Amino acid sequence: MIPLSIPNISGNEWQYVKDCLDTGWISSVGSYVNKFENDIALFVDAKHAIAAMNGSAALHLSLQLAGIQREDYVIAPNITFVATCNTISYHGANPLLIDVDQYTWQMDLDLLEEFLLNETHLGEREGRPCTRLNRDNKAISIIMPVHVLGNMCDMDRLMQIANQHHLTVVEDSTEALGATFKGRHAGTFGLLGTSSFNGNKLISTGGGGMIFTNDEAIAKQAKHLTTQAKTDPFEYMHDETGYNYRLVNILAAVGCAQMEQLPKFLQRKKSIDSMYRNALESDTIRFQKITPHVNPNNWLHTIWVENQRGLIKHLLDNEIQCRPFWVPMNQLPMYKNNIYFTKSDVSNHVYHHCISIPSSTNLTDDQVNQVIDSIISYGKKA
Ligand SMILES: *Cc1c(COP(=O)(O)O)cnc(C)c1O
Repeated sequence: MIPLSIPNISGNEWQYVKDCLDTGWISSVGSYVNKFENDIALFVDAKHAIAAMNGSAALHLSLQLAGIQREDYVIAPNITFVATCNTISYHGANPLLIDVDQYTWQMDLDLLEEFLLNETHLGEREGRPCTRLNRDNKAISIIMPVHVLGNMCDMDRLMQIANQHHLTVVEDSTEALGATFKGRHAGTFGLLGTSSFNGNKLISTGGGGMIFTNDEAIAKQAKHLTTQAKTDPFEYMHDETGYNYRLVNILAAVGCAQMEQLPKFLQRKKSIDSMYRNALESDTIRFQKITPHVNPNNWLHTIWVENQRGLIKHLLDNEIQCRPFWVPMNQLPMYKNNIYFTKSDVSNHVYHHCISIPSSTNLTDDQVNQVIDSIISYGKKA
């Protein structure tokens, strides 16, 4: 079976993990955690990076740091991995779903503007301006752009809309490590950004996450809250309700080794992407349109086809792993009654037409060609 997206462990991972085991520094304190944070902050050009145990924990905490309150609305795209919406729900807040663009599969910014103009008004909260939903007057405090598959939307425009409507930006940049818009890295536009190092992401620590911010006070508070809000190294003194969300040293060691290979991984993703596009792009097989000024990280290669279920079966029969796109959030039982702003339900269309195909950085050219041949042979059959 050619796998969909698996880790590439080909650098100093063994050596750094062995170092943790040999020295006994395996837990939540240790030099690899600090090094991993520094390495990645330097790479994305964020002032601060704070490690977390996974991307979901990073998102959960980021929303808290951005000032989310119970019953708030948080704007998110309807096409995303469920963690985006779940972390909003953990706070007793509600995802407010916006349909996606049919070509880029990112939040549709025309729809977003239309929604804000027609369905919200300017109110205030704690003496500050705050956008409120017309129908129930509840606050819309935060917007979470998700850089779906490592592409991005027009971030200039998104930031401008957010500023105009007093929305704090928390980026779900968990899929977009290394992606840039006008040279600036995903995860560094908002007040907070995030990363995930889950097994299928561009770099992996097995499980892991990161919070990015340029705000020093927020960075301090992030670290404080990931470590049970302890205020004293000796006395068990804690000044608020914190979390045990810190990444452990042994996993950060894997992260340091992965960071050394990140430029190579990004290059390989680009070459796999061009092999797929050159061989397959046509009227019947479409690829994600990359937004102008975006340099994507090509995280998960995904194609749009007419007969999705037929091609999925054909690929699986040929030992090629593939998956349909995420079920849109408004079709999940937890979110089916949430506000979903759409004109033609593009989300449902991409869900029924898109397929993710093998994308691991350790795929050989032969394997990529095997995937290509298999997709072409299905086209001839159909
Ligand atoms: C991977 C992912 C997450 C969550 O990351 P974990 O590390 O698995 O918790 C959140 N949002 C999106 C869009 C993701 O792809």
